[in-house]
Amino acid sequence: MKNQLSALQGDITRLQVDAIVNAANSSLLGGGGVDGAIHRAAGPDLVHECRLLGGCKTGDAKLTRGYRLPARHIVHTVGPVWRGGASGEPEALASCYARSIEIAAAAGVRSIAFPSISTGIFGYPIEQASRVAIASVRRAIEQHPAIESVVFCCFSAADLAVYEAVLRELDPA
Ligand code: ADP
Repeated sequence: MKNQLSALQGDITRLQVDAIVNAANSSLLGGGGVDGAIHRAAGPDLVHECRLLGGCKTGDAKLTRGYRLPARHIVHTVGPVWRGGASGEPEALASCYARSIEIAAAAGVRSIAFPSISTGIFGYPIEQASRVAIASVRRAIEQHPAIESVVFCCFSAADLAVYEAVLRELDPA
């Protein structure tokens, strides 16, 4: 069966999937945006585990437990800060999605949800980011067919409309 890519609008901390991805910063010690929401929802044990990880480089990803979340695992990845697009941002962003899928697959994850990495505080334009996200996830799940479903969890209706249009273009049913 074909791997399933889909987009929905919602709060990623509420999703019943095996793993959710956090758009973290390199300290992995929490921040604003989706990172803050995930730490609040998971509870204080999360930051204790994160302290043991020694941070994370841009484009890389690290795994923790999900604690109070419905999701069993959290994949923390660090997206690039947008600096105009010619400073390696697309490659770094693609690497976030690829490494997250790789680490999740190694942990036995079959369903995973991503936020729109780098498109909040880090300023990556949403349409360009969604193209990188969808293309990178498609490539990664070909290598990891045990991943059965990937959800792009958009916080706003406007972001969802962008993801749906790009999915129709890059991943027609
Ligand atoms: P970054 O620093 O990587 O840009 P942000 O957390 O600022 O990360 O934003 C990434 C995306 O996550 C933005 O589209 C933001 O609207 C969205 N977001 C914020 N809170 C949540 C949430 N609870 N669930 C899903 N997405 C969220």
